[in-house]
Amino acid sequence: MSFRELGLSEPLLKAIRKKGYETPSPIQAKAIPLVLEGKDVLASAQTGTGKTAGFTLPLLHFLSENPKQKYRPIRALILTPTRELAAQVHTNVKEYSEFLNIRSAVIFGGVNQKPQIATIRKGVDVLIATPGRLIDLHNQGALSLKRIEIFVLDEADRMLDMGFLRDIERVMTLMPDKRQNLLFSATFSKDIKKLAYSILNNPVQVET
Ligand code: AMP
Repeated sequence: MSFRELGLSEPLLKAIRKKGYETPSPIQAKAIPLVLEGKDVLASAQTGTGKTAGFTLPLLHFLSENPKQKYRPIRALILTPTRELAAQVHTNVKEYSEFLNIRSAVIFGGVNQKPQIATIRKGVDVLIATPGRLIDLHNQGALSLKRIEIFVLDEADRMLDMGFLRDIERVMTLMPDKRQNLLFSATFSKDIKKLAYSILNNPVQVET
């Protein structure tokens, strides 16, 4: 199985080559076609399995193949539990979108919010965020999630461990009902399953 056979576009294949990836990892081989089909996906995946590319590559494929003209609403939201992970995911998104007309930004707490607000104001397709800062900026009217088409909840188990359930529930109320949802978690407790079924719509389960 090759990345080309998974159905990814030429600019993405170029970025993948530049990264030096030769073959998709098992989670990528399973998740990428499902995400491209527009399915909601519930994936169990540890860090180090290539899960980030597993959701980022098809997400970028979808956005770039279905461009929005004139204005640039935030179309994809990737929620992560920590600023380190948010920054890491953003680095990946930037690398994979090098040959696409896609803009991304990352927002997290503990740093000055002004540059984050200024970046969002210029127009961003993909936003990577930690829950607290996202809600904070939303409360200030600095961003809207009304045009989100794809929502990714990364490391959902850590999100719950860190006490972000309320914040996640609030974020859910800010997005349109019609959207694609992807949930990644290393473990599946009762609480995660409950959260997953409140977010996902008829999900396909992927395991590695
Ligand atoms: P992740 O599990 O998303 O944190 O990825 C773990 C590491 O694997 C990262 O350094 C990625 O750049 C790398 N990686 C992801 N997919 C592949 C692949 N198909 N081939 C080789 N390395 C990869």
